[in-house]
Amino acid sequence: MKRFLPGNVSRNRYGKKAAALGSFFGAAILCCGCGGYPYAGGQKEPVQSMDTAMGTMISQTVYTEQDAVTDGILQEITDLEEQLLSWRMDTSELYRINERAGEESGIPLSAEMADMIERCLTVSAASEGAFDITIGEVVRLWDIDSWAGLEETSGFGLPTAAELREELSHAGYEKFRLKDSVLFLPEGMQLDMGAVGKGIALDKVREYMEQQDDIAGAVISVGGSVLTYGSKPDGSEWKVGIVNPRETSANLGYLSLSGQWCVSTSGDYERYVEVDGVRYHHIIDPATGYPADSGFSSVTILTKDGLLSDALSTACFILGQEKGSSLVEQFGAEALFVDREGNLVMTDGMQQYFHPYR
Ligand code: AMP
Ligand code: MG
Repeated sequence: MKRFLPGNVSRNRYGKKAAALGSFFGAAILCCGCGGYPYAGGQKEPVQSMDTAMGTMISQTVYTEQDAVTDGILQEITDLEEQLLSWRMDTSELYRINERAGEESGIPLSAEMADMIERCLTVSAASEGAFDITIGEVVRLWDIDSWAGLEETSGFGLPTAAELREELSHAGYEKFRLKDSVLFLPEGMQLDMGAVGKGIALDKVREYMEQQDDIAGAVISVGGSVLTYGSKPDGSEWKVGIVNPRETSANLGYLSLSGQWCVSTSGDYERYVEVDGVRYHHIIDPATGYPADSGFSSVTILTKDGLLSDALSTACFILGQEKGSSLVEQFGAEALFVDREGNLVMTDGMQQYFHPYR
């Protein structure tokens, strides 16, 4: 059974405070509810930082004695981008993989990359190709990332149907083979891990924090993906805001979470270009080559695994609520969908965590 909530959301004091952060993140970390800073008991304030990496905002709130810990966490994220996942930087493994597309002897992968691609393939198969990291060339053709957020977009051109057909003909997760960590990537195919990078970053950050002795709790946001870790000194729950896609400076509500969770949101408000009143956003439906049009403006996934939360948020955005809900069920995750009118619909399990602002 799904729950529908009204689209008009009034902002209370709590919501206003959330709004300031909400303008930065797909899913915003809320300070409210942790007692304000400094918080009750006179204990040490958390270490906080705001940076950019992976082409997005990184926000950290860490309860620790170690002031430099946020530098270490940021370094983990930039290393991940530079060494593994960037399709732009020639220092990354993904860049080198893409350069070698078409090699008949195959491309040997690091164990880490092989594992990530393997896991992406599982989500591709389960989502019937809605999530598909092989559509790199289609994403490049749209080039939304380069245009999003610019005031002057008159130079932006739509790809032609013929161009899209051509690039789509090289894509398709079922066309490549991965065997014993050797990847056979067909000529013309390019991988793009933009739909899982932020979630993988959360997994990396969690591993890093587990290796530190003195981190009691933290909440880390990498763009639209948020990791909660450990607990707050006052024992209250972590609050992660759900952005209103049609008024991104406000939140529709928040998730109240204890312990370790990953929350990833995919939304049509994150990166887009508007031409003649039509919004072209960054999430492409591999079935058409065009920005996905399932009637939803955002999807938020809650699960314990970062890569999975991020992959599922992209897949569900494309699939819509009905197919998306059965997809997340297969992976034991929860989902919250916001449609274009601002109505919310969520899986049963999400209801215990989500608190709407009414
Ligand atoms: P996200 O914001 O996590 O939904 O990821 C969107 C990013 O993933 C885009 O900027 C593209 O780089 C890439 N992408 C777009 N469409 C897809 C898709 N159908 N499957 C996999 N990756 C995609
Ligand atoms: Mg994603």
